[in-house]
Amino acid sequence: MKSGGPEMTVGGINSEGKIICEWFEGERPRSRDCWPSQLILIEPKARDVDNSEDITQRLPRAIVDLEERLATLEGKFETRGYNTRPMYEVHEQKIRELEVEITEIKKRLANSSPEAAPSERMEFRDGMLWAKDDPNPFCAPCFEASKVKLHLQSGGANPGQRFCTNCKNWFTDRIALR
Ligand SMILES: [Zn+2]
Repeated sequence: MKSGGPEMTVGGINSEGKIICEWFEGERPRSRDCWPSQLILIEPKARDVDNSEDITQRLPRAIVDLEERLATLEGKFETRGYNTRPMYEVHEQKIRELEVEITEIKKRLANSSPEAAPSERMEFRDGMLWAKDDPNPFCAPCFEASKVKLHLQSGGANPGQRFCTNCKNWFTDRIALR
């Protein structure tokens, strides 16, 4: 009540329009009627509210809650990082394999056209492939067609003449003729 007295609870409204106020006097329940104008609303005190709603605990609890959610997110990011690592490794492996393949193809291309790009060790001359420090040349047409190095056979009337036992081609080493 505005005039003082115990804190009371609104129990209802009577036929006169008065508020039925209830309170305890020790163990004894009491009630009386008051006009609404006589009453003042009292805000519930923090200590009267249920513990889980304790205002003084709200901020610490919110911080704990946020920390837990952050930890969960961090865990997810970490897990995702670990999950994508094998994928990267697979991609890197594939790139390495492709690089090796490209190198192989480049080598084959260089060897398949000895005229344009003779391989590092062989020189193309007079239809033959001459390896460094090897007096016997290889058959260039056979190497071009089958990627096989076949030594040519000496023979014929001239010292510079060579014969391929595979493709039956004759070659003439013009340097030897001079
Ligand atoms: Zn041949």
